[in-house]
Amino acid sequence: MDCLFCKIVEGTIPSSQVFENERIVAFRDIAPAAPIHILIIPKKHIPTMNDVADEDGPLIAELFAVARQIAKEQGIDESGYRLVNNVNRDGGQVVYHLHLHLLGGSKLSSLSG
Ligand code: 5GP
Ligand code: ZN
Repeated sequence: MDCLFCKIVEGTIPSSQVFENERIVAFRDIAPAAPIHILIIPKKHIPTMNDVADEDGPLIAELFAVARQIAKEQGIDESGYRLVNNVNRDGGQVVYHLHLHLLGGSKLSSLSG
């Protein structure tokens, strides 16, 4: 399968990894949009949030738990952070392997203008 993030999971494409367990990997975004910008992904290839099955519920919950843990390790749990999941064209999704963006380390722009 020609998926960039599957290759990062396999290690055939290098990444600056910050977390790994049996189900999840997290690594620094190559083009950070904030001082801290980490991508948290399941090892399982799920293209988008639309493709999440009911049986993936525990995996999605763990994705958020890992995000929370990394935010604490990075020292931004109290200052704050944003978790983003882009879906399809209008959402701005570029890589079609489910991922959470963890953004923080500075005041992020408001979504409400
Ligand atoms: P999306 O737009 O699909 O939500 O986010 C994809 C993210 O992957 C982008 O923020 C982009 O900078 C990041 N990205 C793309 N290619 C690579 C890569 O080869 N390595 C890493 N670490 N991040 C990448
Ligand atoms: Zn993939």
